Amino acid sequence: MLIGSYNTTLVLVSLLVAILASYTALDLAGRIVTSKGRAVWLWMAGGSLAMGMGIWSMHFIGMLAFSLPIPLGYDLGWTILSFLIAVASSGLALFLISQKTLPRWQLLCGALAMGLGIACMHYLGMHAMLMSPGIDYQAGLFILSLLIAVLASGAALWIAFRLRRHSPRVLQLRLAASTVMGCAIVGMHYTGMAAAVFPEGSYCGAAPSGLDNTWMAILVIVVTLAVTGIALLTSVLDARLEARTSILTRSLTAANQELTQLALHDNLTRLPNRMLLEDRTLQAMAKVQRENGCFALLFIDLDGFKPINDAFGHHTGDQLLRELAARLRGQLRNTDTLARIGGDEFVLLVELAEREDAVTVAGNQLQLISRPFNIDQHDLRVSASIGIVLYPGDGTTGHELLINADAAMYHAKANGKNGYSFFEQSMNINARKQLQLLQDLRIAQEERQFILYYQLKFSADGQRAIGAEALLRWQHPERGLLMPDEFIPLAERTGLIIGIGEWVLDEACRQMREWHDMGHDDWRVAVNLSALQFAHAGLVRIVAATLERHDLPANCLTLEITESTAMQDADNSMLILGELAEMGVDLSIDDFGTGYSSLLYLKRLPANELKIDRGFVSDLEQDSDDAAIVSAIVALGQALNLRIVAEGVETSGQRDFLTDLGCDSLQGFLLGKPMPADKLPIQALSRDNRLD
Ligand code: C2E
Ligand code: CA
Ligand code: CA
Repeated sequence: MLIGSYNTTLVLVSLLVAILASYTALDLAGRIVTSKGRAVWLWMAGGSLAMGMGIWSMHFIGMLAFSLPIPLGYDLGWTILSFLIAVASSGLALFLISQKTLPRWQLLCGALAMGLGIACMHYLGMHAMLMSPGIDYQAGLFILSLLIAVLASGAALWIAFRLRRHSPRVLQLRLAASTVMGCAIVGMHYTGMAAAVFPEGSYCGAAPSGLDNTWMAILVIVVTLAVTGIALLTSVLDARLEARTSILTRSLTAANQELTQLALHDNLTRLPNRMLLEDRTLQAMAKVQRENGCFALLFIDLDGFKPINDAFGHHTGDQLLRELAARLRGQLRNTDTLARIGGDEFVLLVELAEREDAVTVAGNQLQLISRPFNIDQHDLRVSASIGIVLYPGDGTTGHELLINADAAMYHAKANGKNGYSFFEQSMNINARKQLQLLQDLRIAQEERQFILYYQLKFSADGQRAIGAEALLRWQHPERGLLMPDEFIPLAERTGLIIGIGEWVLDEACRQMREWHDMGHDDWRVAVNLSALQFAHAGLVRIVAATLERHDLPANCLTLEITESTAMQDADNSMLILGELAEMGVDLSIDDFGTGYSSLLYLKRLPANELKIDRGFVSDLEQDSDDAAIVSAIVALGQALNLRIVAEGVETSGQRDFLTDLGCDSLQGFLLGKPMPADKLPIQALSRDNRLD
């Protein structure tokens, strides 16, 4: 038997190459897993080549490290075949560990195939020496070498599969794993070598023509190092690139999230905005359709926020909104959405177990809102008006629900604020009509759609006209002639009455000028003032300017102010009425008897006339109480030296009664209905006057 010996340096080199090959394999497995598309196949092909070459050259260097007392060589054909088998086994291994899962049976088959592949490579490589007589193998060691090959492959596959993803200590782990794997491969090789017995007198058939030892060793080592080195370098560079790409992707995702947050949230309070609310409402509607149940939208509008904003500044107002938002949000369940959809408008979307629960929710919100806020050392209080819609029931689209909730909120405001209203269909119709009316009202003045009707006032005997009251009408392009009660409340709420009122005053004075010129220079034209006009700072100036413009003496104009308007802010009223009286304008307290005048104030008011409310007049003949009231008013007026006018006189009975009581003048359908100036029976009157 020939005794072989080993070159220690080459043995060590073979071990190093095995470890390097293992490391390359593990690293490439990581690349394959994180790549996509064609890159996967490129990595797989390059990887199999590098890894196969690593394993094969480990084996081949191990062979070169071995020497016998006879010359040795290797047959090229068999050597190449053993190389190809190494590459194929590596390919199989890489394919297996790049799968999504590695079930046990797959691991087992993989270990078997790869182990046998490596063993095949080894024994074919031995065969390349073309020994004759052939090599004897010791059965025990041979089987052990096969076992080692399969076990090492199994372990390698399992480790590679576990380590393919990036984890914090992946480098150290891979290094340790590749050392173990390298040792196992080397172990298999040298066990296989130990199994080989070369009989005495053996002869190496490949020695004369085969590849030469020393040069081969150098060549194989250099090529192997180059290939694995290149593979590793590419892999590391690619990993870097991938890491950078993933950082870029992450920051892009973050930027995207930030943008979405901005687009769907309100900047000030960070609450969802209208857009997100609409989306959530749609989701809630879909959920109700799927699973039944119900939800409510609460339209929350703050009362008294604007005055705070005006008095303490925007900074404080903003702070208040922010704290309010935080307070309300603190109480939400995670299925609820609180959105801010306008200045001081919030909408709360809540899922409800029972429809009635909306009452509790609304009550809670009101209570939360009414607790004082401490902002910049001020104790600030606000309340809210809440409109509630329920789904299903109060609308079929998100938009409709919101509009209806808004209408219900307006209703709550009109009901005295700091409360809630459930939506009813009538609110919606009203709200829509009002909105349309408001739009029309805005253009009515420019388009000259307003006209004045006049109702004559007569002396108590009913014979002589003493003037006329100007009554506003709106010639609406579609709805025809509208009466004041159909649009004046809206004009008052929106402040449009200021401009309209100025026009009325001007037009009435222009008409009075005409009458004046016709000879009715003792007439007075009466103009109604609403509360807002009366409180308007420019009133006195405007009245003076209008009189001057039409060159009218001040006492040609009577301003009618209702009793309740005059009493609203009595001190201020006193001031303004004082200025007007000083100017010489005639002042009349309209609708007298309907308010709660204190006699004290009445005494101090610089008024010239009391107009008994037509409500008393109409019931005069049936209701003895009204008769008593009217006579009391007449007595009061006489005591205070005021003219007494009765309005709404419709029958001659009423006329006689009022005249008997001592009223100074009368006004009513009996004597003349309101009509345009050119329809008034003025010609006849002037003739009568002249005849007088
Ligand atoms: P008012 O000042 O009490 O005006 C008298 C109202 O009684 C008028 O209604 C008039 O048409 C009506 N009337 C007159 N005689 C009779 C009668 O014999 N029987 C009955 N049942 N009614 C009679 P109108 O024109 O609809 O005006 C309603 C209210 O609208 C007025 O009440 C006044 O408060 C307000 N208004 C009218 N024009 C103006 C205006 O230019 N500016 C302001 N601010 N308010 C106005
Ligand atoms: Ca009036
Ligand atoms: Ca009146």
